[in-house]
Amino acid sequence: MKKINIVLSLAAFVLCINSVSRCGEIPSHVSWTVVGAGPTGILAVGIILDNGVSPDKILWIDPDFSVGRMGKLYQEVPGNGTVRQYIALLEGCKAFGEVKSPAIDQLYTLHPDQAPLLKAIVDPFLDITNYFRTKVVALKDQMTGLTFHNDFWSIQTNTATVKSDYVVLATGAHPRIVRADGIPQIPVDEALDKASLASHVKPEDKVVVIGSGHSALLIVKHLTELSVSQIVNLYKKPIVYQVPMRRGIAWQEAGLKGEVATWAKTVLEVNPPANLTRVYNTPEALQTCLSQCTKVICATGFERNELPSINGDDSLYLNYDRSSGIIAPRCFGVGIAFPQQKTDPLGNVEHLVGLPYLRFDALIEALNEDL
Ligand SMILES: Cc1cc2nc3c(=O)[nH]c(=O)nc-3n(C[C@H](O)[C@H](O)[C@H](O)COP(=O)(O)OP(=O)(O)OC[C@H]3O[C@@H](n4cnc5c(N)ncnc54)[C@H](O)[C@@H]3O)c2cc1C
Repeated sequence: MKKINIVLSLAAFVLCINSVSRCGEIPSHVSWTVVGAGPTGILAVGIILDNGVSPDKILWIDPDFSVGRMGKLYQEVPGNGTVRQYIALLEGCKAFGEVKSPAIDQLYTLHPDQAPLLKAIVDPFLDITNYFRTKVVALKDQMTGLTFHNDFWSIQTNTATVKSDYVVLATGAHPRIVRADGIPQIPVDEALDKASLASHVKPEDKVVVIGSGHSALLIVKHLTELSVSQIVNLYKKPIVYQVPMRRGIAWQEAGLKGEVATWAKTVLEVNPPANLTRVYNTPEALQTCLSQCTKVICATGFERNELPSINGDDSLYLNYDRSSGIIAPRCFGVGIAFPQQKTDPLGNVEHLVGLPYLRFDALIEALNEDL
């Protein structure tokens, strides 16, 4: 009997460290809840801590705590951010300074202008995540319900219901897919990794890549370096490059940068390989290309991960304020799920999703009002 009790206590302990990191009770009411532990969620928790909110009043929810999609799928992808930008991001948050991390030390050994593989920023974020999980109330779970009632938010997960004064949704997005009946599609997440893409293609393949952003052109670049018979890039928008203006400020912030920008400028636009063509994407061009290809990769952007409706109303997510990220009273959307928009002086609208360009102004304003 004693043995069974020991086994049961051990199992309860393991369950406890698995689901709630601080290993205490989940409070019934917190000040701030951050849903999502991708890069944006990590930054949001750091900003809330920096603004003086007590860690035991911060609830942080994620089913994995492994730096979101970037941590799970894009570690080996060449990033478009520079070491200088990542260091600025880490140094911009006081709470990150508490973390002892060999991965952060490693970042400082790289050349500031280098645009490294995303692993270079994922590893520091993972160390920060593990530290924050011991500090705030971190719940390894999925948010399944969100309602606003009597002036506070009620957040449901599979295992708990918690009231919160403020909610930050940093819940991420997944790649869009296109309908291409009968033609094998290579998932964009797998195509972004060259080694994984190599396992999907054969020398006789004719591959259509749809899209003209960073992901699409990185995949086209990978394909030109692999052995495939033909590559067709279906694009809708011209290639746009980011142009640095002065430190930290860039023209066309969402434009191509890093390794992909260099390749597009020096190879794709001036001397593309003979097996690569670029075709303007119309419904007819799409049909023709699909009828002639053997594989298709859709890299046309991301769509928000599904969220529980707020008080039964989905339209609040669609109508969030594009300049501040405000979804509803004291409810903020941040990161790739709720990209903020910026209009450049020529009137072009950009979505700001790169880490250096994320804006938390509305959150910080609310934190200052709260104190
Ligand atoms: C190929 C590629 C290269 C990129 N390169 C760069 C780069 O070099 N530099 C740069 O700055 N940016 C880059 N980006 C953009 C950047 O990676 C993304 O904008 C960023 O990773 C998105 O982070 P996020 O935290 O908003 O979302 P995600 O990383 O998607 O994280 C969302 C998290 O929320 C969790 N979640 C979702 N729903 C729930 C729920 N209901 N309950 C609880 N948790 C939930 C998920 O499990 C996940 O952990 C790149 C993106 C891609 C695709």
